Amino acid sequence: MQQTDCIFCKIIQKKIPADIVYEDSEVLAFKDAFPIAPVHILIVPKNHFSTVNEWKEKDIPLAGKIVWIAQRIANDLQISAKGYKLLFRVGSDGGQEVPHIHLHLIGGAKLIEDIHPQKEPSRN
Ligand code: 5GP
Ligand code: ZN
Repeated sequence: MQQTDCIFCKIIQKKIPADIVYEDSEVLAFKDAFPIAPVHILIVPKNHFSTVNEWKEKDIPLAGKIVWIAQRIANDLQISAKGYKLLFRVGSDGGQEVPHIHLHLIGGAKLIEDIHPQKEPSRN
């Protein structure tokens, strides 16, 4: 089920363009429009969920499949041996900006660790 005002749902419905690298009936993977590394791909469920918080126990196979597809894309792009990051941001504290679940596959360069809390967290 897609949501009309969601940018990733529009990509899934091919209403706006994206550089798609993988697609099946449940999952789409496409290049991030503002890549932060040589490889930066987003893997999304075709059904709209705002955040990981919305996944239920029945969604375990879908969540596992999304990680599996990220692993296969990393393999295809030959970054597996050197490594990469897989990142789900969740909600405001997690820094999530697009409210449609997406797994970031980031790699192709040595990545810095940048996951520490803000010095003076602004909690809103
Ligand atoms: P978040 O901060 O929610 O974890 O990540 C959202 C990601 O979506 C960002 O890395 C951003 O560059 C990417 N993004 C935002 N809008 C678009 C778009 O219209 N197309 C594509 N391909 N990526 C987008
Ligand atoms: Zn959506």
